[in-house]
Amino acid sequence: MTPTLPEWDVVRAETLAHAQALIRINTVNPPGNEIEVARYLEGVFAAAGIESHLFEPAPGRGAVVARLRGSGARQPVVIMAHMDVVGVEREHWSVDPFGGEVKDGYLYGRGAIDDKGMLAANVQTMLLLKRHVVDAGGTLARDVVFVANSDEEAGGDWGMGWLIKNHPELVRGEFALNEGGRTRVVRGAPLYVAVQNTEKVSHVVTVTAHGPGGHASVPLAGNAVLRLGRALAAIGAHQEPLRLTPTTRAFFRELSAVWPDKAEAAAMADVASADKARVARGATVLGRTPVFDAVLRAGVSAVLVKGGIRSNVIPTEATATFNVRTLPGQSVDSVVTRLKRAVNDSLVELEVTERGEDAPASDFRSPMFTAIAESVKELNPAMVVVPYLSTGATDSARLRQWGMQAYGVLPFPMDQNDEDRMHGNDERIPLEALHFGTRMIYGAVYRVAK
Ligand SMILES: [Zn+2]
Repeated sequence: MTPTLPEWDVVRAETLAHAQALIRINTVNPPGNEIEVARYLEGVFAAAGIESHLFEPAPGRGAVVARLRGSGARQPVVIMAHMDVVGVEREHWSVDPFGGEVKDGYLYGRGAIDDKGMLAANVQTMLLLKRHVVDAGGTLARDVVFVANSDEEAGGDWGMGWLIKNHPELVRGEFALNEGGRTRVVRGAPLYVAVQNTEKVSHVVTVTAHGPGGHASVPLAGNAVLRLGRALAAIGAHQEPLRLTPTTRAFFRELSAVWPDKAEAAAMADVASADKARVARGATVLGRTPVFDAVLRAGVSAVLVKGGIRSNVIPTEATATFNVRTLPGQSVDSVVTRLKRAVNDSLVELEVTERGEDAPASDFRSPMFTAIAESVKELNPAMVVVPYLSTGATDSARLRQWGMQAYGVLPFPMDQNDEDRMHGNDERIPLEALHFGTRMIYGAVYRVAK
């Protein structure tokens, strides 16, 4: 028997109902209370005859792992989403953030974008695979594993890390599909899908200036606060060198073909070229846009300043904290060496006080990446699918360190305005986008697992 085709209009309503139900369960983290969402999911899978396991890693926290068995010819594909959400400033919302209200073609609610929309799309994907492939007598070449986890928004102690540590056999696979990408609408048209296959690594660097202490009534030339100020000015003026990864080159090369701004499109093609002068020229243009600049070089952001004890004492020490984000394969020590050279002061120390862990990039020519691209093309041939280096950190790094190929998507076509509501007020997802995203995930998972 061959797989049957889903009735997409019925699916549309069903996915929306799941998304609404998920939003209506308040899982603001802390405390999370994801166990209630976990029980909801367990109920949905039980009713559909899909094998699932429910865990309670800590009181009130939850994890659900469901599985559709394949022939075992290939390794499993894992689709994951987190159940917790960030808090709300209720007075700035025009609707109940936990009401799951539909208004003007949008579903409103905390988590609509991050990450209950994808959770609903993933649930729907499991239900459709069960109905239209397994129950229709078809076979899957690999297991399809659904993971819903907790605590992603607050450190992840009870999330994917917990599952990997306690139930590795349940979540192990060749590929994983996670949050972390973008599906972008620009000037009203869905333009591209950015699939995150690698990410920057976050570190903390502390800068400490030393100087003579004393009574504030006698000004001292070597004042540590002023010394720190000069060091900060030097670091602010410093620019990290351009460093292109294979992902960044492919990202700009493919985006240049559809990018609406002509000057930026030319700069993208320049950066992706093999000609050094063109690369430098393109990087100068793109570097004016902070989000582009952040993928072209290591990022150095000042985040905390501390110094002094009272208003009439010159302190002997003043410190500033930097968040440094290196590109994959780049050493944070090399960044610190360059910053020291820029500061050029023996009484200013720079030290890596928290060191992030690098992870290998996932292959953007793998069957999983190809399946995502084909699924998108089927839905909208005008869109391009590009690999993407994210500046933010995700759970996918953990999976990549563990040897899995992990890909981050946000499968819902949205413009910048809607996307910026993620973690903000009046978070909402266009109903059309929720439907598109469900079809995109189903299409990708079916293709890679069939
Ligand atoms: Zn998220």
